[in-house]
Amino acid sequence: MTTLINNRFTIEDTIGEGGMGFVYRGIDTTTNEPVAIKKLKREAVVKNPEQLERFRREALILYQLNHPNMVRVYDAVTQDGDYYIVMQYVEGGSLRELLKREKKLPLYDVVTIGLDVSDALARAHRLKIIHRDVKPDNVLLTANGTPYLTDFGQAHISDAPGLTRPGQMIGTLNYMAPEIFVGESADRRSDIWAFGIMLYEMLTGFRPFMGENSAQLMTAIIKQPAPDIRKLRPDCPERVAEIIHRMLAKNRDERLFTIREASLQLEYALYELEQY
Ligand code: ADP
Ligand code: MG
Repeated sequence: MTTLINNRFTIEDTIGEGGMGFVYRGIDTTTNEPVAIKKLKREAVVKNPEQLERFRREALILYQLNHPNMVRVYDAVTQDGDYYIVMQYVEGGSLRELLKREKKLPLYDVVTIGLDVSDALARAHRLKIIHRDVKPDNVLLTANGTPYLTDFGQAHISDAPGLTRPGQMIGTLNYMAPEIFVGESADRRSDIWAFGIMLYEMLTGFRPFMGENSAQLMTAIIKQPAPDIRKLRPDCPERVAEIIHRMLAKNRDERLFTIREASLQLEYALYELEQY
């Protein structure tokens, strides 16, 4: 038996499963276009009632964020005790999958993907929304390579009462900024850090900080300087390497202040690349 969601959307196949829910490919029966449908797991709500609030918040945040590099939300539905977010289907897989296949990306791709994602983040930050889980898994690509920032399941509106208490760690260790480990709450600059790690990884094929276990990884993040990008990726324009290193300042007061500064340097780099 197929479920028809809000008398309009059908569920076809499963495309992802996270801690909080399932993601399905579906069809909008009025237009025959594919959609992505995220469904909140009932077990997740039973275990942790806060999840429902989180899920609703994700729908609301994405709804407000009308940006060409963020997945558009079409509908948020409560039906027969289940909760769904219906959104634009992005068909090309995630940046994580691309990095698994290619390891390092061509400079042009790093710069264009970086520019579009930074633009989306700048919009979120302008609305006082902190993503808190910026990583290649949460950047989806269309068939022609346009990136979409997604998964606002951890996002936080800095004006709204928090669902997380200070000191509660959210997100993935690998992309987590040093301040989070000492119990401070994430802000814009923590997203900037994560974005810096992601750019670094696209350019060099490695994340700058590694460890054999969580404790080693945390120590590296807190203490080790990031290895010079240009040693690992000599064709990386100096301005791009420099801005990434500024995004990875350990002390957030010394870190790049706004994501727009990264966009600016990436845009210059793109012009330079297009001239040759
Ligand atoms: P979570 O990580 O919280 O489970 P995500 O929103 O990151 O949720 O979705 C998990 C996976 O489902 C993604 O990595 C992606 O493979 C797939 N997915 C999510 N949203 C879409 C979408 N709009 N279009 C296509 N695939 C999607
Ligand atoms: Mg995700």
